[in-house]
Amino acid sequence: MIIVMSPNATKENLEKVVKKVEAAGLRTHISEGEEVTIVGVIGDKKKIANLEMNMMDGVEKTVRITEKYKLVSRNFHPEDTIVDVDGVKVGGKQIVVMAGPCSVESVEQLREAAKAVKAGGAQFLRGGAFKPRTSPYDFQGLAEDGLKMLRQVADEEGLKVVTEIVDKDDMELVGKYADIYQVGARNMQNFQLLKALGKADKPVMLKRGLSATISEWLNAAEYIMAGGNERVILCERGIRTYETFTRNTLDLSAVAAVKELSHLPIIVDPSHGTGRWQMVQPMARAAVAAGCDGLIIEVHPHPEVALSDGDQSLTPKNFNRLMEDLGKIAAVMERTV
Ligand code: PEP
Ligand code: MN
Repeated sequence: MIIVMSPNATKENLEKVVKKVEAAGLRTHISEGEEVTIVGVIGDKKKIANLEMNMMDGVEKTVRITEKYKLVSRNFHPEDTIVDVDGVKVGGKQIVVMAGPCSVESVEQLREAAKAVKAGGAQFLRGGAFKPRTSPYDFQGLAEDGLKMLRQVADEEGLKVVTEIVDKDDMELVGKYADIYQVGARNMQNFQLLKALGKADKPVMLKRGLSATISEWLNAAEYIMAGGNERVILCERGIRTYETFTRNTLDLSAVAAVKELSHLPIIVDPSHGTGRWQMVQPMARAAVAAGCDGLIIEVHPHPEVALSDGDQSLTPKNFNRLMEDLGKIAAVMERTV
């Protein structure tokens, strides 16, 4: 349930509301917006059903929520959330760009990629050090050596680091080097990992699962927020459909859906969303037009020799061209890149 306070409600009114909710054995989550204050009620469904709040002073109305997620819901938090990553804001006027290779392969490869993405205007360096691969015989990533390279090269270029975590026991290790924890599609419903990240003091970028509905995805985000970590960024990366021409079907309607249902920022991954470098540019342009808050794009200095995802990686030259196009589309959307 959410309780919408009237615009002229006093501090005392709010305190009484919170007291009554807590006395019923429930928890509150207060969201103070510029115009209205909203009190989210969290806890046992039966207790919430018995809670009568409409007659209290300062209460404008109460709204029963049918979806299970609450903290993630726009009903709870009508204004867009801006996730601050050490000064880089995700969800504001600027569309952020995270770019780099699928996997960290060597310091030389990473440096070449980092220079290119920095020159193109990206704010984040991406790169996997722990790679969830379909085959156990494929390159699995450089683990901590890769994380060290990411931090070193990103610092050289003045970029932030976003990298994947695949195991809750790696939280401290990955957190030592990363600015954002990436939860990959295959781990979207790894609830132990989500719960652990709920206690993290760093933002989390949560990718949509391979076949996850929007509701399942938002519930996964709720796990992180319910643990106390409010800095969650969603990432649409394509879902599995009957189509095989593309690696996945990039669901750009998810951008509009998430904007309606949630206050969290959403970024788009056209690289995994299509699996074909030729389609990355048009889909990235479309994502910006659809209203996304950022993009994550695979860029490799030499895609033909990449150890993973070369087919969907842009060359530095193509990345640069894309960034020029994105600037023009962002301007139409009254945003910047
Ligand atoms: C990746 O970003 O390299 C990756 C493995 O993505 P996803 O989890 O979306 O497949
Ligand atoms: Mn990849």
